[in-house]
Amino acid sequence: PQTRPKDRVPDIIAIANQKGGVGKTTTAINLAAALAQRGRRVVLIDADPQGNASTGLGIGHAARKNGTYSLLTAEAAPASLLRDTEIETLKVIGADNDLAGAEIELVGEDRREYRLAERMQNGSFPADLVLIDCPPSLGLLTLNALVAASIVLVPLQCEFFALEGVSQLTRTIDSVKRSLNPRLTLGGLVLTMYDRRNNLSELVADDARAFFGTAVFDTLIPRNIRISEAQSHGRPVGLYDPRSSGALAYDTLATELLSRRGYPTP
Ligand code: ADP
Ligand code: MG
Repeated sequence: PQTRPKDRVPDIIAIANQKGGVGKTTTAINLAAALAQRGRRVVLIDADPQGNASTGLGIGHAARKNGTYSLLTAEAAPASLLRDTEIETLKVIGADNDLAGAEIELVGEDRREYRLAERMQNGSFPADLVLIDCPPSLGLLTLNALVAASIVLVPLQCEFFALEGVSQLTRTIDSVKRSLNPRLTLGGLVLTMYDRRNNLSELVADDARAFFGTAVFDTLIPRNIRISEAQSHGRPVGLYDPRSSGALAYDTLATELLSRRGYPTP
């Protein structure tokens, strides 16, 4: 198993890929929910100004007033930004309206890449795992997530050009590791929207495994309409339709992640 932080310090996982539409937000929501349903205390930080993770977990606009922007820029206690979800052990820090301006606002600031990391230090809130849903870019918000994280999880959509751009992402991870956060590791690639009837899905999966080896999770996330339906209802798929192939896959992914991170799993 990979090393994870000592107990009491949350294990911070950045979910990143500068491509849009590859399943970052879907994975953030449903992996967070599956981990929480296993009794882990999970916080999901919505670091994408589009706020899809907040919406997908039923966090309305009023509850997003103080969210990730406040976390990055204000002095408010991080614990005061946590919002409840349907799952007792899953909390969310929502994407507030001002988050869209954060990248530009922070440009001239000192230690701008360390904002999130610094706010996450010394028991900012009780959590075993913190998942960060990154925007589709390698800008300052994603950089803050990479500097705060111990691992990066990269969703890959099983479609044409899935691996295109991944080398740019791994170069960014390497450079963050060299200069800003030495403990960062590529914690794994997750194959999403896998379609068994489509040969292309299999080709992409084979390519990813040939190139990245065991860094690719064994669990495949299938293309499953229940997953996108659940999001439009503001619920994780594990609650919306627990027997769907999507719910089962995210539950399996949670088990695989916990075991890879060295947590005891049943
Ligand atoms: P990203 O955050 O990387 O931009 P999303 O997670 O928002 O990507 O996914 C893009 C779209 O694909 C969304 O509409 C989402 O509901 C849909 N989607 C993601 N994963 C699946 C899946 N496994 N099956 C069906 N639809 C999916
Ligand atoms: Mg997204």
